[in-house]
Amino acid sequence: MNDTKKYGFTTTILHSDRQKPIEHGSLHKPIHTSVAYGYKDARELAAVFQGRQPGYRYGRQGNPTVSALEDKITKMEQGLATICFSTGMAAIGALAHALLRSGDHVVSSAFLFGNTNSLWQTVSGQGIEVSFVDATDVANVEAALTPSTRIVFVETIANPRTQVADLKRIGQLCRDKGILFVVDNTMTSPYLFRPKMVGAGLVVNALTKSIAGHGNALGGSLTDTGLYDWSKFPNIFDTYKRYTQPQWGMAQIRAKALRDFGGSLGPEAAHHIAVGAETMALRLERECANAMALAWMLEADPRVAAVHYPGLPSHPQHAIASELFSAYGSLFSFELVDGIDCFDYLNRLRLGVPASNLGDTRTLVIPVAHTIFYEMGPERRASMGIAESLIRVSVGIEDTTDLVEDFRQALGAQ
Ligand SMILES: *Cc1c(COP(=O)(O)O)cnc(C)c1O
Repeated sequence: MNDTKKYGFTTTILHSDRQKPIEHGSLHKPIHTSVAYGYKDARELAAVFQGRQPGYRYGRQGNPTVSALEDKITKMEQGLATICFSTGMAAIGALAHALLRSGDHVVSSAFLFGNTNSLWQTVSGQGIEVSFVDATDVANVEAALTPSTRIVFVETIANPRTQVADLKRIGQLCRDKGILFVVDNTMTSPYLFRPKMVGAGLVVNALTKSIAGHGNALGGSLTDTGLYDWSKFPNIFDTYKRYTQPQWGMAQIRAKALRDFGGSLGPEAAHHIAVGAETMALRLERECANAMALAWMLEADPRVAAVHYPGLPSHPQHAIASELFSAYGSLFSFELVDGIDCFDYLNRLRLGVPASNLGDTRTLVIPVAHTIFYEMGPERRASMGIAESLIRVSVGIEDTTDLVEDFRQALGAQ
């Protein structure tokens, strides 16, 4: 098990813990709840504090159960290192707090997870300028760049309208300009896509979604792919330059964001996420097949006005998605024709549950404009292509025929 590249995705995750000694030969990494770690030699404690020796000091900055999960995510993304956080939003907030300063500029996709959109708006009130662009075309990203641009931030497949960012060309642009390219990989997960392939320097994953997959734990992560040259980043404090240069970014994020803001992942949640991660590939195979079957059925029905799923040939970025992703994801959205009320439709579903999570084993449905995108108002919704009747579906692992039949019967009962 030393050469992780030799093995497939699931084999690598299943045997990851055994690459380091596990207490008592236990097969699963135990849940370590201790907050502090004692040292027999006080000089060792000092060496750990000064970064000269690996080790744990205080639970906010690191924990053995969380480290084992960080190793797994690093392997999934084929990166250099990973830091876990209490939620996906804590990971994105960490990025903003640790790496940006007043006067900096960020170019972000306009098609974003709603809370990330809200976070960038908060940050813009704090002296950082954020430009929102249609990232399905690299030309829009390029046109927005300024000499102060520090980060280009995109999602792979946007939630809920499923626009696919022009990932390869944006990666190339960032490489040419020496700008840090950050990709939120939550919608694809490292099983369907590795942002490292398109030149991302940092990868965000909301572990809450497909990686845990069971809807019983919150978590988030940032992975350094090793591709970004941190010597080009002007905001690294001198104190973190005592590490080797590839470690600068993560050293600063671990201290300035995880230590100082304290959005740390708890050991129990880390354990739940690690258990879920073992079956990620199996779940995603089923979820993507279910999503494809539902999208075909709905698109063919005259009572449906539009279906948004990158797996459909009618999707504007179908070709890019086919080139980059091994499948098209477990999320799609659709609009009913005028005359069918989206609330009535949702209430007729027997299996799809009205709820706001994604990547759960159960199929979850939500009327987007009235819930998760309510706060931003009708104008901003319209600019993001969110119809008032849009229904988002996070497809679960139910049997395909049961789901297709459920979504069909709900159309016909009006
Ligand atoms: C859910 C989600 C997040 C935030 O993750 P939480 O764990 O809920 O904080 C960030 N980005 C995307 C794309 C998400 O779907």
